[in-house]
Amino acid sequence: MCIFCDIVSGKAPSRKVYEDEQVIAFKDIYPQAPVHILIVPKKHIASVVEVSDEDGPLLVDIVTAAKKIAEQQGVAKRGFRLVANNGPDGGQTVNHLHFHLLAGDVMGRMC
Ligand code: 5GP
Ligand code: ZN
Repeated sequence: MCIFCDIVSGKAPSRKVYEDEQVIAFKDIYPQAPVHILIVPKKHIASVVEVSDEDGPLLVDIVTAAKKIAEQQGVAKRGFRLVANNGPDGGQTVNHLHFHLLAGDVMGRMC
């Protein structure tokens, strides 16, 4: 049972902004920036640690989706941040791989 699998299957609602064969993207329920989109593979992969060699094309699709969403949201030129939190120390709270696309403000440095 996973909330993002429920969103992928349509069992749970979301404010969808993008979808293709392998990926869905929707607005984060608790936005941390003026634009805060979650990019989620339809396949359940728990985190970056669970990614395997066969997921290569899927990762290309995720990055391509990020580019398209940034253009669609009008933030491609000014820029955005793409973040995947992993594991407890990384602050991951949903154990289904996802990338946060954050934009619309100048991001503080993280490192
Ligand atoms: P994480 O903390 O794992 O990096 O990111 C999980 C994100 O999912 C959080 O930013 C949280 O606000 C968002 N989130 C959790 N549950 C839901 C939900 O049911 N719908 C949506 N749209 N976002 C959710
Ligand atoms: Zn899942």
